[in-house]
Amino acid sequence: MKAIRIHEFGGPEVLRYEDISDPQPRKDQVLVRIKACAMNHLDIWVRKGLPGVKLPHIPGSDVAGEIVEMGEYVTGLKAGQRVLLAPMHFCNHCAKCVAGLQNQCPEFSVLGNAVEGGNCELIAAPAVNVIPIPDSLDFNHAASVPLVFLTAWHMLVGRAGIRPGQTVLVLGANSGVGIAGIQVAKFFNCEVITTAGDDHKIAKARELGADHVINHYKQKISEEVRKITSKQGVDIVLEHVGPATWEESLRSLKPAGTLVTCGATTGPQVGFDLRFVFSRQLSVLGSYMGTMGELHEVLKHVFSGRLKPIVDRTFPLKEARAAHEYMEKSQMFGKIVLIP
Ligand SMILES: [Zn+2]
Repeated sequence: MKAIRIHEFGGPEVLRYEDISDPQPRKDQVLVRIKACAMNHLDIWVRKGLPGVKLPHIPGSDVAGEIVEMGEYVTGLKAGQRVLLAPMHFCNHCAKCVAGLQNQCPEFSVLGNAVEGGNCELIAAPAVNVIPIPDSLDFNHAASVPLVFLTAWHMLVGRAGIRPGQTVLVLGANSGVGIAGIQVAKFFNCEVITTAGDDHKIAKARELGADHVINHYKQKISEEVRKITSKQGVDIVLEHVGPATWEESLRSLKPAGTLVTCGATTGPQVGFDLRFVFSRQLSVLGSYMGTMGELHEVLKHVFSGRLKPIVDRTFPLKEARAAHEYMEKSQMFGKIVLIP
């Protein structure tokens, strides 16, 4: 089959389109012909070099496609079925996994990070990861769902305990997790404030349901949040940006508010004033992907059309390099999808 592989870490030029042997599914696995693989910032981190990535390596976390064949232990699925893959690797037999806490499994990794991903034509995946999709969802949109919607759902529902009527600040409306986060917060009838960098993205954020959009280049986020909330601040901040917004995010919280973070797009190191955190009784929570139970829960709302994946544009798989360059310019609103 054809695949995008990296043999060394570096810029977009290390992505090679090449022929490799087809994967052979184990008896408990399903072989899926990939029709679409959506990109995430993780693809860029993996390409630049992350611990645990063994070379050569196939990146790509978000896969949708058709079942080709199944191992003899697999039941309940059939060849030709349209599916997406849960974008995670876990052992499925440790105490955490059997308790439904797959993202706390010692073997847990995101598909395409410590295990090979979906920038290729065929992938063998454990049956537990294979989830049928309705005909109403095309492959490009199906591939745009799993990682970001699961991440946003786990952050807001699993970690921050979102409740109807709260006020939520979602950083970066145009990012995958921002698009999902705005919709999940609106799903809970929350008032949503988000940030965007230009008029086009501001208009798109409003279309998604954001009640207020702050231009983070022209306005100071915490000052705008103060104005919008009549000096109250927000209950929850959904963070994934890191140092560029961290202090503004903390300052936007009301007393006893919660900052939940899943990313470090602008860097890994931040600081905060302990006195500010304890005196205002703030909670700072980490969040990483989510559980299989949460994935099935959020997919139910995607399949019913209440939560909507957004596709920005597609590239043929062999043009993965151009797709990476496009993503690194951050001009997109929605997912970039690679098509084998
Ligand atoms: Zn496990």
